Amino acid sequence: MLTNISSENYKVIEKNRSHSKIKLFPSADFFGEPIMQNPMVPTGITLHYSAGGSAVSSYRHLKANNLGYHFLIDRNGSVHQMYYLDSTCYHAGNATWKGESPNKKHIAICLASFGQLNKDNRTCYGNLICDAVERQNAHWEPATPEQEISLLQLCVWLCKNLAIKSEKICGHSEACVPVGRKQDVGGVISLSMAEFRILVHKCSVVR
Ligand SMILES: [Zn+2]
Repeated sequence: MLTNISSENYKVIEKNRSHSKIKLFPSADFFGEPIMQNPMVPTGITLHYSAGGSAVSSYRHLKANNLGYHFLIDRNGSVHQMYYLDSTCYHAGNATWKGESPNKKHIAICLASFGQLNKDNRTCYGNLICDAVERQNAHWEPATPEQEISLLQLCVWLCKNLAIKSEKICGHSEACVPVGRKQDVGGVISLSMAEFRILVHKCSVVR
């Protein structure tokens, strides 16, 4: 849980990869060659959930519909990269955060999760989620501890290596227009977005 992490014991773990740090996250797995669209210098990060099953199933659905995220984080914590970091991807629809378009300026991170559930803890497909939680006056499939650690590691690495300020991290629900159009990332993560931004900032300034 993110609530158990202090900046003192936090450390980014990077696999040994020789790729350019600007284009690829060192700990990422790949579905194939990452996609390049319009060039971008990222200034922020938008967090999403997939409202679906595994990262692989979401990837297939996204690719078939010409949509995507820079990163999909599976329930086991593995991080899959779909797009190069210096490339746009269309992920936020009508949205704005701190005066900028997330579609043009943000790295998109998506957690594999069914997200918000109905009050009987079922998904829109009718599946019962046994480990559902109540947060922010709603029911959610929570991110796994492995997903939350990977999310934090990824955000800290992006802030450090791409000079992104933690206040430029938003949940899709915070940036969407009109307000209320989206619920992600919401109660899928164990901290509020305000708390998450503070944690990323604290971890980014260590060492
Ligand atoms: Zn979203």
